[in-house]
Amino acid sequence: LSDRLTETFKNLRSKGRLSESDVNKTIRDIRLALLDADVALPVVKEFTHAVRERALGAEVSEALNPAQQVVKIVNDELVGILGGETRTLRFAKQPPTVIMLAGLQGSGKTTLAGKLAHWLKDQGHTPVLVAADLQRPNAVTQLEVVGERAGVPVFAPERGNVFGHDVVTATGEGTRSHGDPVAVSRAGLEHARRAQHDVVIVDTAGRLAIDADLMHQAADIRAAIQPDEVLFVIDAMIGQAAVETAHAFQEGVDVTGVVLTKLDGDARGGAALSVASVTGRPIMFASTGEGVKDFEVFHPDRMASRILDMGDVLTLIEQAEKAFDRSQAAEMERKFLAAEDFTFDDFLQQMAAIKKMGSLKSILGMMPGMGQMKAQIDAFDEREFDRVEAMVRSMTPFERNHPKQINGSRRARIAKGSGTSTSEVNQLLERFGEAQKMMKQLARGGGLPGMPGMPG
Ligand code: GDP
Ligand code: MG
Repeated sequence: LSDRLTETFKNLRSKGRLSESDVNKTIRDIRLALLDADVALPVVKEFTHAVRERALGAEVSEALNPAQQVVKIVNDELVGILGGETRTLRFAKQPPTVIMLAGLQGSGKTTLAGKLAHWLKDQGHTPVLVAADLQRPNAVTQLEVVGERAGVPVFAPERGNVFGHDVVTATGEGTRSHGDPVAVSRAGLEHARRAQHDVVIVDTAGRLAIDADLMHQAADIRAAIQPDEVLFVIDAMIGQAAVETAHAFQEGVDVTGVVLTKLDGDARGGAALSVASVTGRPIMFASTGEGVKDFEVFHPDRMASRILDMGDVLTLIEQAEKAFDRSQAAEMERKFLAAEDFTFDDFLQQMAAIKKMGSLKSILGMMPGMGQMKAQIDAFDEREFDRVEAMVRSMTPFERNHPKQINGSRRARIAKGSGTSTSEVNQLLERFGEAQKMMKQLARGGGLPGMPGMPG
């Protein structure tokens, strides 16, 4: 989608003024681009209609750059369909707040349960996960692993004694599906009340396709636990099937919000548009990988920019701020102002901060214009980063703070200690020396423009 729109806008940018035929041509391209991205036809129609009306209407001012105007109109319409402002979780007046997850099998519910719990815990909540997916023998174990990774307790039905796989219900009745998810959900809620957890996240079962049994089960759980939020979890790569699936869950369970998963994959726009428009519910969170931290609050405006390949700059900055400790930032600033040497210790700190943001690839992917550089990003070798870090770690504290004193025998020792070659160490020192010089110049010039997390 992005590449296609980038092409369209490039053509527009080179023109002076928007004529009706320009608009029509643009609309055709946008229509094709959206269909290409598996946005459902009715959604595409509605979208292009709105854009066309506005582009041809009074709002087109001849004084402004026409391409900018169309970008703004397309962007506004995208944001509108994606849900306008961000909506946050609704917490119960009387805890615990109950959050139920629903969606097809493999959509990422269990993974999301861990991320959401981790995120809530970070904000001082005391969440508990409830294993109400009793469909697959391994589902309970999977949630337990997820909970452990997130550092959050899991409420699971008591186990039978056969390899920990058989599960009996909280009421003691066995069913074909290893237990009664409604009873387990209820018991989990009771447990949360007793143990004073302020948020309960209920992980439910999914099927590979929509089926009546699954819908009934989800509806029954919903009725039993009266959740404050029912989050519909959907894989962003699902394509055209997004419409049918979203429709079924909206009808069958009545969801209150949407979570898009696997946004780290290729399909970045289509499902988001379709689901938001079919359910009329806000997309609240985005899942961007398999790790517990690959999770973001969903921002419609940023998603719109992402679809338009303007890059998700805001998300990037937000992540950088989180990762880059304030006191570290202040210390860096002091060093800059004093035009002191940037040392390898500072460098290690920054590497750690960058790592906290997630993989370098995912960071690159969020930067503007990177849609066109996909091949290069894919070829980027994260191990290169590890080699540099190994070299720095093989330096003594003295060496880290006095890079200029690293002579030939020290270089050979560092290469040996880090499993690299002397020429690699030479290269690193050379580049580091240049970076030091550049930073000093910048410091004298007043600040370091455009570096996330850096004041000034
Ligand atoms: P569930 O059946 O809905 O509970 O789905 P799971 O949570 O078990 O996820 C199914 C698969 O998708 C697992 O292999 C997850 O690791 C993977 N997965 C989940 N969320 C994401 C995501 O945001 N990005 C990527 N790349 N993989 C994900
Ligand atoms: Mg699951």
